[in-house]
Amino acid sequence: MMRALYPGTFDPTHNGHIDIAQRAAAIFDELVIGVYDAPPKKLLFNTEERVALVRKALAHLQNCSVVSFQGLTVECARRIHAQIVVRGLRNVADFEFEYQIGLANRQMAPDIELCCLISSTDYIYLSSTIVKEVAGLDGDISAWVQPAIAEALRARMAQDRANKVDGLLSAPKTVSKTRGKLTHHG
Ligand code: ADP
Repeated sequence: MMRALYPGTFDPTHNGHIDIAQRAAAIFDELVIGVYDAPPKKLLFNTEERVALVRKALAHLQNCSVVSFQGLTVECARRIHAQIVVRGLRNVADFEFEYQIGLANRQMAPDIELCCLISSTDYIYLSSTIVKEVAGLDGDISAWVQPAIAEALRARMAQDRANKVDGLLSAPKTVSKTRGKLTHHG
């Protein structure tokens, strides 16, 4: 039985991720999505939220499950008894990254193979960063994410905007260095 681990940040899951997951699920007996807990990136969704959104997005895949993990990807693969790590490749930058990490991983865990799937042309430009940026500017992201993810993004962006306004309203008034010079309050 071949079990594969597809690790990533998934902040949030978009159609490029789903495409890779569907294709990997068709190749391997079991696919486990590994959501990085505390990756070195500034994130919009916390780990529980990212796990819940991946689960929703991939609910249609019978042989797919989702876990979160900390630490090395190869350690996670060993823990869940996966023989393969799956990654997606959009471009040369992705390739260079995967090539280097792949060799380091092989040094640490020669028993675990890397399988890189090339992005479908429809999603080659797509990243979670683009999705978040466009959603933050009220752009249409319906071609890039499932409706549930678009809704979660809308809600989070609205919440962030409200928090920002609250923060501005409750921030202590700063004392201007020019006080008494340019105003009449001196
Ligand atoms: P990471 O922080 O590990 O890059 P991401 O969530 O950004 O996590 O991506 C997870 C995996 O999915 C990576 O292998 C990435 O290259 C791949 N991926 C991301 N976007 C796409 C896409 N549009 N098409 C194919 N693969 C993708």
